[in-house]
Amino acid sequence: MRRHLITAAVAFVLGLSAAHAKDAAPDEATRKLAFDIFRQLIEINTTDSVGNVSTAAHAMEKRLLDAGFPAQDLHVAGPNARKENLVVRYHGKGKAKPVLLICHLDVVEARREDWTTDPFEFVEKDGFVYGRGTQDVKVGDAILVATLIRFRREGFVPDRDLIVALTADEEGGAYNGVDWLLKNHRDWVDADYVLNPDSGGVDSVSGKVVSVQLGASEKLYADYLVVATNPGGHSSLPRTDNAIYELADALEKLRASPFPFELNPVTREFFARDAKVEPKDVAADMQALLGPTLDEAAAQRLAKDPHLNSVLRTTCVPTRLDAGHANNALPQRAQANVNCRIFPGHSKEEIRRELARKIADPGLTVMFVAPDGSRHDTAPEEKSPAPPPIRPEVLRALDEVSAKMWPGVPVIPEMEPGASDNIYTIAAGIPSYGISGVAIDRDDVRAHGRDERLRVSAFYAGLDFYGRILRALYSGR
Ligand SMILES: [Zn+2]
Repeated sequence: MRRHLITAAVAFVLGLSAAHAKDAAPDEATRKLAFDIFRQLIEINTTDSVGNVSTAAHAMEKRLLDAGFPAQDLHVAGPNARKENLVVRYHGKGKAKPVLLICHLDVVEARREDWTTDPFEFVEKDGFVYGRGTQDVKVGDAILVATLIRFRREGFVPDRDLIVALTADEEGGAYNGVDWLLKNHRDWVDADYVLNPDSGGVDSVSGKVVSVQLGASEKLYADYLVVATNPGGHSSLPRTDNAIYELADALEKLRASPFPFELNPVTREFFARDAKVEPKDVAADMQALLGPTLDEAAAQRLAKDPHLNSVLRTTCVPTRLDAGHANNALPQRAQANVNCRIFPGHSKEEIRRELARKIADPGLTVMFVAPDGSRHDTAPEEKSPAPPPIRPEVLRALDEVSAKMWPGVPVIPEMEPGASDNIYTIAAGIPSYGISGVAIDRDDVRAHGRDERLRVSAFYAGLDFYGRILRALYSGR
């Protein structure tokens, strides 16, 4: 009897602590660990030019080994010594196919002379931390590693394996880590679906959270080179044919004929949910879009906003110009890079042909510029797949956790205007979602920019958020 009582008491306490852990914010030790990891990652330069992603991957491997993760659950591998990726498997009950969490370790270039502080020094000031990668996206790497270590300490056993892959060359470089892992070690990373803190997001205004996004689809990135050539000659004897004029005319035509408006299941859900929080006129236009036929006039009005424009169509815009060879010579060549963000369902070649059709000048060529900078007469034909329907359990978990942490704040699925590494996992047939949890002020987006920074409170809230979302999804309720 006595024994029974004790067992019951122990069970009661265990039950309580398990329930407590499920909803609890991370303890002080986890918070400190996460912040230390964040500092360590920011101070390892992982730029493509002079940095080293492998150093960061090995540093995270050591963190996990020190925390007791078995060596056989860890892999550090890549195509060369500077571009290694870390993969770690956290074992669950095997009740479902694993989930893969991907987050890139590399960062965009940052020059000391452009910044107020050293971009590779973790500087705390006025409630913010400064450094390259504080927003994009070493914050995510630190949160994932610290959360795995926390789960292990707390004895959390998810219903399935959680795989975390921290990877190279998302921002540039020729060795994208997610792509490399999928091609070379699919068994390490094969998953039911992907979550990626580098996509989706949490918007705040002066630190107050105002909206939570689920990244549920991605546009396809492509560069094209529009080239005009001419025999040239002496600039004292100009003619009407001139490579610079012809290129300028071509670009003017692109400005005048944007791509058509489109919708897909994710952008429909975006407009349906966003309409609920927009001013009346905008909401009415968004609702008008969702009718059986797309309301062109409503789309035109909405597309005046660059963000909504990017959600509604393929966009192409000239981003670089290069022309002529001497101040006193007629140009023999004029060329412009045209950067496109392609609406899912179209191929890069389809868009290349469409650009040529809009330019309608056989004297000009439109070439495809591959990620490695090489130029080609045609582009890849494969279409970026239209998004699969959003997994209801993913949206439900995000709704639940957001309601707890930021009551009343809307949760909105979206199509990312820029592409994240999800583009590779989606292409590999693995549905992929962006879930961040880290709030960034709408007027303080400094990813890729100077003096990149993150509110310290947003870091800790993001850490709390990720523990909650993973438990909500994988506790096997
Ligand atoms: Zn990023």
